[in-house]
Amino acid sequence: MRLHNFGGSIRSHLPAGMLASGMHSDGDGHALHQPVLVLNASYEPINVCAARRAIVLVLKGVAMTEEENGHFLHAARVAIRVPSVIRLLEYRRIPHQSRALSRKNILLRDRNTCQYCSTMLPSGELTLDHVIPSSRGGPHSWLNLVTACKRCNTKKGDYTPEEAEMFPMRRPYKPSYTLFLRDISGMKQEEWDEFLGVA
Ligand SMILES: [Zn+2]
Repeated sequence: MRLHNFGGSIRSHLPAGMLASGMHSDGDGHALHQPVLVLNASYEPINVCAARRAIVLVLKGVAMTEEENGHFLHAARVAIRVPSVIRLLEYRRIPHQSRALSRKNILLRDRNTCQYCSTMLPSGELTLDHVIPSSRGGPHSWLNLVTACKRCNTKKGDYTPEEAEMFPMRRPYKPSYTLFLRDISGMKQEEWDEFLGVA
C-alpha cells in the first residue's frame, strides 16, 4: 500500500508549474480540492493541504505519495493518482504543534454543534459557554469551554451542569494537533487514521 512514487519520468517530461496549470481531474471535479494529509519526513502529521498542492509537491520531488484517494488526474496524456497522504522527503522543523485557545478553534473542535442540544449552527449563531461558570471559578480553558447555541447558553446561565441539569454531550478536551488536523479537514478521512494514530 505504501511507498508509491511517481518516479522521475513524469517529472522530466512535465515541469510542475506547467502541469499545475494544465491539469484537470475526472469524476466530480472535486478531487483537486480534497484535503491531503501532509506528513513530515519522520511520518509526523504536520499539515493539511488541497490535493492540487499535494500533487505539485510530489511532482517537484519535495514529497512522495503515501496513500491515494482513488481518483485520477489527467495532464498531457498522463494519468496521475490523486494522493490522500503525502510525506515530505526532507525533515522540516515545526516550532510548536499546539493550537491557540480561541472561539474559532473551540467551534471547530465542537464542529459548530451546541454541546447541550446538539444543534449544528453557523458560527454567528453560536456562543462559548463556560461549563463551570466564570462567576463560580470556572477557568477560561479548553477543558471548561464548549460551544453552545444562544438559547442553551441563556438557559444554563450561571448554573453548574448539575444545577442546570445540562451536561455537554462530549467532555471538552484540548485537541491534539493530529486530531485537530483531521477535524479541520471537515470530513472523515479513513486513509489518514493510520498516520494520525487513531486507527
Ligand atoms: Zn443548544
